[in-house]
Amino acid sequence: MIRRRGTVSDTIEKISNTDTPAEPVTNAFEALGISKEIQRAIVDLGFEEPTPIQQMAIPLIHQGFDVIGQAQTGTGKTAAFGIPTLEKIDPLDKHVQALILSPTRELTIQIAEELSKLARYRRGIAILPIYGGQPIERQFDALRRGVQVVIGTPGRVMDHMRRGTLVFDHVKTVVLDEADEMLDMGFRDDIELILKTTPSDRQTTLFSATMSQPILELTKRFQKSPKMVKVTHKEL
Ligand code: ADP
Ligand code: MG
Repeated sequence: MIRRRGTVSDTIEKISNTDTPAEPVTNAFEALGISKEIQRAIVDLGFEEPTPIQQMAIPLIHQGFDVIGQAQTGTGKTAAFGIPTLEKIDPLDKHVQALILSPTRELTIQIAEELSKLARYRRGIAILPIYGGQPIERQFDALRRGVQVVIGTPGRVMDHMRRGTLVFDHVKTVVLDEADEMLDMGFRDDIELILKTTPSDRQTTLFSATMSQPILELTKRFQKSPKMVKVTHKEL
């Protein structure tokens, strides 16, 4: 991990679980301000307590902050951004309201599955995974019917943008998931182009297992006074 003095500290407020010892904020999902419908879905999923990254990130995202979340693989980052993202969706508005960028087809499908489970008791939310390798025509049909949450790999999202089949004028939330992997795979230019087509008053969150200077540069350019939450050890 690279963290240079003076480059990050003036713009990012860091919140770390090692800075605040003793008492965790809460052990329950309900105290995080999560709706009854999503709490019910969480019970179905068998989650008993929020993981540390969920405990720290969910309230900040609810409050509208741009967030950088760093925690190891397998620590529940999907629900950390997925729950507050779903809470923010207006079921009556059929435009794309949330865009989640993910590095691979497999992760895109996994995120879509977890979000669909979390959203099962909230009516009128359509979630669509889009990735290369799947016939694009099938994605056109789904998009025409109205989708509020798009999860996609940057390449296929760019493809839809160029064809005019994905428009981000109504996007309120953008999530860059597994940002380290996306940058390693060379998606930086695509990510920047995609972000530039979304409204500037959007909320932008970024999740990653590791931090690096290129990620921090991305956050500097595309996030507003982000709060950094970092889990330094694995707890699940
Ligand atoms: P990450 O993105 O950090 O690698 P995931 O979001 O994929 O991790 O979560 C890893 C696994 O943990 C998934 O199977 C997920 O359903 C599960 N999980 C997430 N949050 C909780 C929780 N609060 N309690 C129990 N299991 C959880
Ligand atoms: Mg993940």
